[in-house]
Amino acid sequence: MSDGKHAFYRPRSGADLPRFAGIPTFMRLPHVDLPKATAEVDIGLIGVPWDGGTTNRPGARHGPRQMRDLSTMMRNVHHVTGTMPFNIASCADLGDTSVNPVDLLDTLARVGAFYKDLKAANIMPLTAGGDHLITLPVMRGIAEPGQPLGMVHFDAHTDTWDRYFGGHEYTHGTPFRRAIEEGLLDPKRVIQIGIRGALYTPDDKDWGLEQGIRVIEIEEYFDLGPEKVATEARRVIGDGPCYVSFDVDGLDPVYAPGTGTPEIGGYTTHDAQVMLRGLRGLDIVGGDVVEVSPPFDMSGSTALVGVTLMFEILCLMAERIEMRGRK
Ligand code: MN
Ligand code: MN
Repeated sequence: MSDGKHAFYRPRSGADLPRFAGIPTFMRLPHVDLPKATAEVDIGLIGVPWDGGTTNRPGARHGPRQMRDLSTMMRNVHHVTGTMPFNIASCADLGDTSVNPVDLLDTLARVGAFYKDLKAANIMPLTAGGDHLITLPVMRGIAEPGQPLGMVHFDAHTDTWDRYFGGHEYTHGTPFRRAIEEGLLDPKRVIQIGIRGALYTPDDKDWGLEQGIRVIEIEEYFDLGPEKVATEARRVIGDGPCYVSFDVDGLDPVYAPGTGTPEIGGYTTHDAQVMLRGLRGLDIVGGDVVEVSPPFDMSGSTALVGVTLMFEILCLMAERIEMRGRK
């Protein structure tokens, strides 16, 4: 493209270097470390290779590496909206955050510090997990003090449980309870889409509903369909800043078998794309796709699903920059 500002921050074309060749970065973007990226990068793609918050089947620590590999299939132009995210925004692979595979609290501190630095550098993050607990330190890094985020949350699970295993407060089942308690999330501007599966106790749902979270269980999802659900998401989020968090177990396990806590009866990949496209115009300040666990799907198809959803979110973030400028 002719736009010199973004010339360096472009995916390597598959018509230049074949897609199976080269060192895999997210979407074949250049890998740039944070200090250099400070002045130049609008959107950073980041991996958080960590699954120490997993309560059941592990493996999401391997997600970012396989998602980078499968992201070689991404191209420049969104085939429905025509959006060309790499023409609008300078994008780069900022690598993986530091993690400590044997210390949960230390990992939360390391990841949170990385995202604080990103925010100071005025870079919008698009993250590949990792299990869903990683969204908590991301939000700790990017939420403005006194201005809690809204969230469009795709998941089979609410992730608003309180304690596990004798009182432990941090697992991938608890991030949004903690985020609301910490004032990072405004529960009245949170919508959860695709919730299903058996509960631990009959009152499991009560806490989130009492906070004012809009919960769309899968039965309501199928009654409404993806377009109306997206309309409802826009209503709930309103004009304020919002985060998009996509747990691949919100999809039916037919489409995303490589995940730690699969629940049958979810939505299709195409319906997920339709819902994400329906979020155009929201003030999206960051997003993630989490819970891709390659050991449970060595074919890589779950990782391909994950990175394709990342591309959908990337287009939303680039459109937001085009409309409103850098955050
Ligand atoms: Mn989740
Ligand atoms: Mn889940």
